[in-house]
Amino acid sequence: MRVTVKDVTKRFGATIALENVSLDVGDGELVALVGPSGCGKTTLLRLIAGFETPDAGDILFDGRSVLGVPPERRGVGIVFQNYALFPHMTVFQNVAYGLKFRQTSPDFVWTVRLRRPRAGEDVRSRRSLVRELLELVGLSGLENRMPAELSAGQQQRVALARALAPSPQVLLLDEPLSALDAKLRERLRLEIKKIQRTLKITTVYVTHDQEEALAVADRVAVMSVSHLEQIGTPQEVYNTPATEFVARFIGRGNLLPGELLGVDATRVLVRPERIRLNQSANYTLSGKIIAKEFAGDAVWLHVDVSGTALIVKAPSPDQALHEGDAVHLGIDRSDLYILPSDRRSPPTP
Ligand code: ATP
Repeated sequence: MRVTVKDVTKRFGATIALENVSLDVGDGELVALVGPSGCGKTTLLRLIAGFETPDAGDILFDGRSVLGVPPERRGVGIVFQNYALFPHMTVFQNVAYGLKFRQTSPDFVWTVRLRRPRAGEDVRSRRSLVRELLELVGLSGLENRMPAELSAGQQQRVALARALAPSPQVLLLDEPLSALDAKLRERLRLEIKKIQRTLKITTVYVTHDQEEALAVADRVAVMSVSHLEQIGTPQEVYNTPATEFVARFIGRGNLLPGELLGVDATRVLVRPERIRLNQSANYTLSGKIIAKEFAGDAVWLHVDVSGTALIVKAPSPDQALHEGDAVHLGIDRSDLYILPSDRRSPPTP
């Protein structure tokens, strides 16, 4: 199922949550929607789900407008940050519920396409479907547990299985991992990606965590307040950001004044891992280490170069360097990226 958001504007009173936003999510693609708090990510997801109606523009599934289609008939499965499992039902019953009912409640909105048992479909086949889903999310054997007897990560897996139960054509994930600790988030995001690939389900994954977005997505849509800044593969948004906002939001980076390198551009992006410590290159800058962060496999160095703070990612053997040490920073021409709005002439050393 292809999901198209076309020139959508959405206002809440005086607040413009989305302005003229367009986004195309291909069949079976996972697009991560990333951006700072309040930029409109959840609103966009709710518009796709049908919980909100745009003031202008259109939402299309496979080229057909779904604006008149209520949420429960859009064929979307949704997973929210706060799992929202039914506390009085077992794991099995929670997932089976996704097969039976459309459900909304005041404190959260979770709607799945109503799926009545097909003719000839017996209880046993439903049971085996629930078991398959639990196996898919790695919860086999926990069918009879109550939600309170599960860890946070297990609860979120149940929520995912429940959302997948009615075989939705579109999966919408709204900060599905933000309530979990860092290690678990890393593990679950890979599992979600694997499940999404296995089912080939069109997915929009909202997160404020750019690292998570880069890790899971086929393409990343970067939002700033009420509009899309760029949509591209993780490599594209990281290596060739379309705007200064994207350059700053995705990954760590150095936005240098052009004159620092003698380049004819106002701002130049150099990623920290591209800077060579004490090695010659096309450009060499001299500076002093002002701070150091040990990160296990690497060391982040903050280096002052003529009043400009640069961040350098050095392999950890360089951890012998100390604050106050003088260093040379080597930058090759191919490591420079001039932001599109600022392109004038190719850099010359
Ligand atoms: P977060 O990452 O904090 O969840 P977000 O990017 O998902 O933020 P939205 O929840 O989409 O942002 O909100 C976008 C803007 O619209 C915000 O300014 C928010 O206050 C406003 N907004 C969202 N829903 C409503 C509503 N029902 N009524 C009024 N304003 C709203």
